[in-house]
Amino acid sequence: MTISQINENALKELKATRSVDDINALSVKYLGRKGALTLFLRNISNLPPAERPEAGKMANQVKKALETLFEEATAKFESVGQGMEDIIDVSLPGRTAQPGSLHPITQITGQVCDIFTRLGFNVAEGPEIESDYYNFEALNIPKNHPARDMQDTFYISENVVLRTHTSPMQVRFMEKHDPPVRIIAPGKVYRCDSDLTHTPMFHQVEGLLVDEGVSFGDLKGILTTFIHQMFDEEISLRFRPSFFPFTEPSAEVDILCVMCRGKGCRVCSQTGWLEVLGAGMVHPAVFENVKFDTSKFTGFAFGMGIERIAMLKYGIDDIRKYFDNDFRFLRQF
Ligand SMILES: [Zn+2]
Repeated sequence: MTISQINENALKELKATRSVDDINALSVKYLGRKGALTLFLRNISNLPPAERPEAGKMANQVKKALETLFEEATAKFESVGQGMEDIIDVSLPGRTAQPGSLHPITQITGQVCDIFTRLGFNVAEGPEIESDYYNFEALNIPKNHPARDMQDTFYISENVVLRTHTSPMQVRFMEKHDPPVRIIAPGKVYRCDSDLTHTPMFHQVEGLLVDEGVSFGDLKGILTTFIHQMFDEEISLRFRPSFFPFTEPSAEVDILCVMCRGKGCRVCSQTGWLEVLGAGMVHPAVFENVKFDTSKFTGFAFGMGIERIAMLKYGIDDIRKYFDNDFRFLRQF
């Protein structure tokens, strides 16, 4: 094949190209390592000596010309491609702004506050960075007391902690207010713990009621009313003896499993019951710390995890889902 034949063929094929890929293929076919033009140049030494200079000169001219043409064609296809992206499809639906909504934990906190507000409780809030005194000592948990092991504490310094429960609010409130006291204290608490049912930060609601003649029966009545309003009227409660340093007597409160209604399932580990909160009568040592007259006043306190309530209400098995910020999860509430 002569150099002009190669050139003609290349130009003819260039006219038929429709994309950058076509150009690339053509470039390989003619200018590649085994391309027609490359082979021609390599074989020039086989021509009669007199023809060699002219043939070499022409071949190099054709090569340069083709390179330029291929580059121009590539640029042309690329610019057309970009132009396509700019075309506005007026038939596409618009991009609407997603409406926001309250986080499930915020929703449950609101529901808990609503129920207790209707029962005559006020909402009180306190600091998340707390002194050792309010978090432990004033609640009858002295330094080096074994009960401190119950709570994996984040210490900021020897006497400053991230509060491990909302109970410090009991003391803070009673220091400033005389009985009767009727408060709930919702908020974030922190413990050094992380697995399917624990996160280093979670939410609690603390409850405290102090007045003359308050009994354990009042505690049972208030908590039963709360559980029935939070879940439904059919849910029964069970009080199990327990220990907390700041209440005496103390109880863990179970509710009938909301999933299986007591028959036994995976959620309740086949027991038919679910632990939801801790409660008890305020320990006299706590009253003495805030100078309340223990011969006159009694009271009860309770605390519960908001995430726990939300998990049971919505049937969620992994507490960490609340904090993953996955819209697929959050949009369901
Ligand atoms: Zn169950």
